[in-house]
Amino acid sequence: MKDGPLRRFIKRLALLRYTFDLGVTRLVLRAQGEPRYRLTGACNGCGRCCEAPTIPVSRPVFFLRSLRWLTLTWHRVVNGFEYAGEDRRHKLFIFRCTHYDPVTKQCDSYESRPGMCRDYPRNLAYSALPEFFPECGYSSVYKKSEQLRKALEQANLPPEKYEELVRKLQLKE
Ligand code: SF4
Ligand code: SF4
Repeated sequence: MKDGPLRRFIKRLALLRYTFDLGVTRLVLRAQGEPRYRLTGACNGCGRCCEAPTIPVSRPVFFLRSLRWLTLTWHRVVNGFEYAGEDRRHKLFIFRCTHYDPVTKQCDSYESRPGMCRDYPRNLAYSALPEFFPECGYSSVYKKSEQLRKALEQANLPPEKYEELVRKLQLKE
């Protein structure tokens, strides 16, 4: 359902806080040499990232009933994210987005979409090993791929093992 004025206002406030938190976090990560990957490509509008938005949460939020309820309620009432499941191992909440139209693959409230939707897939450049949807128009390249490729070449690996590592570590330009 399309966001009304009240929801748009609340989401704008939430976005300000999200942007500030993200900016500070990324500053710290950059000081530590992150991100290790560079994004390439562009969005082709396939819609896969809107099919099941997934949010990583802390252990207290995942396990404490009150925090869990608050988080899920916030995402349902404000963001239009209906709880659809979870991944206990990685402490992820998985949602169905009520703003997503699977036929047109469009967001009915694009202008007021949450910060996490705006950031995707930039966040993947900061992950240990970025994984994109097969349909996604983006991919990533390890920034130090040249050095790592040289190190692999010097390791005298069998050619198929070398190719596999180059592919898995995203070392191709
Ligand atoms: S999965 Fe990638 S290409 Fe598809 S809509 Fe999301 S960002 Fe765009
Ligand atoms: S709010 Fe919009 S951009 Fe975010 S997951 Fe839903 S449909 Fe996609």
